[in-house]
Amino acid sequence: MTPAPTRVVVVGADAAGMSAAHQALRTARRTGRRLDVTVLERGHHTSYSACGIPYWMAGDVPTGDDLVARTADQHREAGIDLRFGVEVVAADLAARTVTTADGGAVGWDELVVATGAPAVVPDWALRSDGTTYDGVGVVKTLDDGAAWIERFAAAGDGAHVVVVGAGYVGVEVAEAALRHGFGVTVLTRGRGTGMLEDELADLVNTGLVDAGAELVLGAEVTCLDVTDGRVSGVRWDGGTRAADLVVVAVGVRPATGFLEGTGLELSPNGALRPDPHGRVGDHVWAAGDCCEVRRRVDDQWVFRPLATYATKHGRALGDSLAGGSLGFDGMVDTSITRFAHADVHLEIARTGLSRRDADAAGFDAVALLTEGTTTAGYLPEAEPVAIWVMADRATRRLLGVQVVGGRGAGKRVDAAAAVLWAGGSVDDLAWMDLAYAPPFSTTWEVLQVAARRVAERL
Ligand SMILES: Cc1cc2nc3c(=O)[nH]c(=O)nc-3n(C[C@H](O)[C@H](O)[C@H](O)COP(=O)(O)OP(=O)(O)OC[C@H]3O[C@@H](n4cnc5c(N)ncnc54)[C@H](O)[C@@H]3O)c2cc1C
Repeated sequence: MTPAPTRVVVVGADAAGMSAAHQALRTARRTGRRLDVTVLERGHHTSYSACGIPYWMAGDVPTGDDLVARTADQHREAGIDLRFGVEVVAADLAARTVTTADGGAVGWDELVVATGAPAVVPDWALRSDGTTYDGVGVVKTLDDGAAWIERFAAAGDGAHVVVVGAGYVGVEVAEAALRHGFGVTVLTRGRGTGMLEDELADLVNTGLVDAGAELVLGAEVTCLDVTDGRVSGVRWDGGTRAADLVVVAVGVRPATGFLEGTGLELSPNGALRPDPHGRVGDHVWAAGDCCEVRRRVDDQWVFRPLATYATKHGRALGDSLAGGSLGFDGMVDTSITRFAHADVHLEIARTGLSRRDADAAGFDAVALLTEGTTTAGYLPEAEPVAIWVMADRATRRLLGVQVVGGRGAGKRVDAAAAVLWAGGSVDDLAWMDLAYAPPFSTTWEVLQVAARRVAERL
């Protein structure tokens, strides 16, 4: 008798969950396993690029549909039983069931947790019924994006947008609001984007101000002014600003509440810690924003909710679940964004450790900031670029690189990420064979000059 197919239940139908589902089916065809793959999604969207939402808000992407990589129909045609409007509220690992919000139960042989990390909404943004005041919202899902498109369209000339948070999402949304001609204030409790060393964050801060935004550093929002249920201002310790719209971009938190009491180990912020194949327990798997990822440079778990990790880990998980051996071998903490408006064009990127990470890991780190140009200086398109490089004095290992600069600056970080990935030295970065022609770099590429300067000081 042919054995019954293995019942795979995936919770969450976006980057991690659908990567896992499709790869499991592909690998199962190769390994000869029979899988029934069911995906339970509490919302009504699947496989879309949240990363593209700020560019949709800015007007660069015509519709939300353009952000959808694969439709629900395409998933179903591939053999996946995708169910929308189904929220999982509990899991029983012994009985191998999940309970849904309508009280139903779904049985599984293999459970994949890919529930992501919803945006954090502080109390000051919420009415007593838990909804946000009119004119206030986060930027996380396609529905959030659609709500912002409507709010932007309804806002009159001279409207003022306050963005709370100066991380990547805050910076991208500030750009979108400026592009609509709105007044923009960015409030951040720190000294600027926390992903960068202070001297690079300062360059981003200067770019925001040069592009017309007001920037308030060290501002902890305390409450909103609300008129007839609608936001009319923002108050923080030290100031107030009248506001027509308030974007809350203060981070995300793993959606793992339904796993409480299952015995699965969660990190202090509630994230799962899967192995390279995605395993978190007996027949239980996880990937994506609901997880922390292993950073290879200092061998630490860190919470980095990024699509690039969700899709890679999801794929490795799906393959392993179906009998393959793909593994997600951690990351080196690489990320990138852009802030561009008016005459300002800044590409912002980092890889590896920050100074604080290096100190915590006990490295004797040496770091320097080097300035140069993105192309040969004699070309009209040459733009300034600042590159921060850090290496370990004892071993000469490259530890981290950060970049802020004009067009073409940002993806320079990839060469540094490749060296970090291979555990290479600052000398490797200084001397490796990178492409050169005047429209692309100076003869001594600025990244390599930056590495060489650090190497000379070790
Ligand atoms: C504005 C913005 C810009 C971004 N830019 C970048 C970028 O430039 N580069 C980058 O790498 N990353 C970026 N990201 C991050 C990227 O979007 C996420 O890392 C990625 O979407 C994570 O995928 P995921 O599948 O793990 O989680 P999600 O995309 O959050 O999907 C999880 C799904 O699970 C569902 N779900 C949750 N709980 C339950 C439950 N209990 N029952 C049923 N369903 C449930 C949710 O509804 C959701 O659809 C950005 C994110 C945002 C918001």
